This record gives sequence, structure tokens and C-alpha cells, in this order.
Amino acid sequence: MSFREVLTRRGDRLHLEDVAVARLAEEFDTPLYAYSRAALVERAERFERAFGNTPHLVAYSIKANLNLAIAHVFTRCGLGIDVTSRGELERALRVGARPENIVFAGAGKRADEIDLALAVGIRMLNLESLEELECVATRARERGTVAPVAFRLNPDIDPQTHPHIATGLRTAKFGIPIEEAREAYARAKALPGIRVVGVDFHIGSQITSLAPFREALGRMRAIVLDLQADGHAIEVIDVGGGLGVEYTGQDRPPTPEDYVGVVRKTVGDLGATVVIEPGRSLTANAGVLISRVLYRKTNGDRRFVIVDGGMNDYLRPMLYGAHTRIETDPLRPGSEAPVDVVGPICESTDRFAEDRLLSPVEPGDLVVLRDVGAYGFCMSSTYNGRPLVAEVLVNGERADLICERQTVEETWARERIPEESP
Ligand SMILES: *Cc1c(COP(=O)(O)O)cnc(C)c1O
Repeated sequence: MSFREVLTRRGDRLHLEDVAVARLAEEFDTPLYAYSRAALVERAERFERAFGNTPHLVAYSIKANLNLAIAHVFTRCGLGIDVTSRGELERALRVGARPENIVFAGAGKRADEIDLALAVGIRMLNLESLEELECVATRARERGTVAPVAFRLNPDIDPQTHPHIATGLRTAKFGIPIEEAREAYARAKALPGIRVVGVDFHIGSQITSLAPFREALGRMRAIVLDLQADGHAIEVIDVGGGLGVEYTGQDRPPTPEDYVGVVRKTVGDLGATVVIEPGRSLTANAGVLISRVLYRKTNGDRRFVIVDGGMNDYLRPMLYGAHTRIETDPLRPGSEAPVDVVGPICESTDRFAEDRLLSPVEPGDLVVLRDVGAYGFCMSSTYNGRPLVAEVLVNGERADLICERQTVEETWARERIPEESP
């Protein structure tokens, strides 16, 4: 079952739910991130429902989109949250996630981050090294408490995705090698201050076929059986995130139902609660970035459309070579022609699309980048002295500002000029 369309054309004008994109640009200025609430809810509910009667926790990987309003939509849908830092943990609490529905990942957790996780009583810490295990044990004993932990195991799987977002290969910095799991669990079990509760893995992001998941899940199933035979009570199997989304119109990623089906089939019968940590697949397709066309020009035989959004606002095309679908508003008559869609940043790589067939545009028209709801705004910067842009959440005919546009003064508000020495 495919998802409902997020962006629709009514006549020649684009709409996000029932709000004209042109109205959003008018009211909130550009560049502007806009998200469809219905799209977020649809995805959350489909993951939830797909689990049926299997004990589970869908923990939204909040790093995909940090905005409080977005995370709040998910906690309202009953989801937990997967965090990777103190800042994310505090956001999760701020939007009302119950501590027992929060899991904490990351190869480099600092002592203060571990302390906060123990103080609020999260579901579990996903550990990524034996030194981290010792640190967590010490912090827990000092507090007179016991830390619930899992090890993030590295199953050595090639997720067939972009190398920058593959995390489950032997050479990645993440997790501990799966062959060393039994030894690590034995050490953890012997340590005062530690309670082993589960296993965890996460093999990468934007995975568009089920094969790597099947392979990794098969290895996890085998190791869980080994650990159970060793006498460990595995209450939680955390299978990470990574489900891919439709970016090009041809990706055909598995649906939440397909993916959860494989998860249930492989590890659903081991007597443990299954945790999944989707990030991208919950938010990517729900968001658009609206920019305004500033100028058109031709250099040699290349035609350029220069827009007011840049790589500081949306980095994925430049960071990963990510293909981004682009719509124009209004849709003008005339045949499509290949253009480069570029931003105003002083870098040659500041290009959203190369040789893209686009309908004619004129200065003042809108250019809408699709599927930017994950790893979009949260990766933006003030490079070139550009204030962070605004974000809005659309719900039916309603559009609420969920992050104010930064002012120029705010971009330097925390900077200081020291007094010059005489
Ligand atoms: C980033 C991350 C996720 C989410 O990945 P997506 O590809 O966005 O679904 C889940 N778990 C961990 C540990 C992560 O680092």
C-alpha cells in the first residue's frame, strides 16, 4: 500500500494538504520548510499497526528531525523516542515521551549524558564499547542504581546504501563485532551496576531492499539464541532504523508493513519486546523546502535557475549526492528544459539539481524541493552569514509556525569581540 500524496496540484498551483504553497511563501517568507502533519501521522500509525499483537516499541529516531512539534506529533501517536545525545534526550522529555519509551544510542556518550539517562530512568542504554560499559557501570554504582543496557552489535552487513550512511560494516565505528558479543555480555552480567536487558543493531540508512535487513536480522536471531543459552534474559531486541524512502520516483522502498513483517517473522518469537527506530521513513516524505526563484542565466551552454535557498539550508544533495525531486509553482505552460538549480552560496557544490528537466520559471516563482523532512533543517547552518530558516506544520487548512526564522542579530548574538589591548 502506497502513501497518500503529500503535495498535490490544484490547477497550476501546488498544495501541501489544503494549503497553497504560494500562501505559505507569502505568509512565512522563503526559504521555508513545511511539513504535512497528516503524512507524519499516517507513517507513525502504519508502523504501529504493522506490529499487530507482537510486543513492540516504535521509537522515533529524533535526529532525523529535531523540531519539538514534529516529535510531539509522534509522542501523541504513542511512539517512543530514540536519542543520541543529551540535547535529544531533553527534547524527548520536553515533548512528553515517557522515560521507559526512550532508548539512547551513540558511540561517544559523555558521563553527564549517562548520568541524565540514569536519573530519568530510560528504557535502555545501547552500548557501543567495553570501555563505555565500564563507565556506565561506575556511574550507576555511584548513583546507587542499576543501568539497563544492550550492546549494539555490528553484524557486518553491507546495506547497499551510500557509503556515508552505512553503519553496520566491520570497518564502521559503530557497535562491537558480533563475534565478540558473548564475551561482552558475560562481562556485563558480572558487573555490579549493570542489568543486561537486550541486544541492538542498526546497519545504515536509506535501505531500499529487504535483503540486508533479512540478513542482519538472521544474524541477530542466532546471537539472541546463543545469549539465551548462556543464561541472559533478553527482554528487548532493538533492530534500529534505516528503512529507505522514495526520493527519485523510482526507489520503490519496502513499505512499513513489508519491513515490520520481516522483523516480526525473524525475531518476533523470541519472547522479547521488539524495538524499531525509524527516523527518515517517518519524516522525509512529509517535508518540503520552498524557495523563490531569484534569477535565470546561461553560462556557456549551461542554464541556471538561481533560488534563495542554499546548501546551508538543505545539505543532502551536496553531502551524499542525494537526488531531490523538484516542483515549480505556478506550473507555467511550455516545454520542460534541462537546468541546474543552484543556491546563492559561494561554493560550486551549492547545487540542488544538475541538468534537471524543469518547466519554465520566472523570477518570483516558487521552486519546491520534495522529501526534505529528514536530515534537512536539522543539518542546516548559518554558513555565509545566512540566518536559519523558518519551519511550519500544515494540518488541513491550517499552517502553524513551529520554528521562527532566525534574525541576522541572532546569528551573532553569542559572539563576543574582546577588548583590544592598548
Ligand atoms: C540514525 C539512526 C536511526 C534512524 O535511522 P533512519 O535511517 O533515519 O531510519 C536509528 N537508530 C540509530 C542508532 C541511528 O543512529
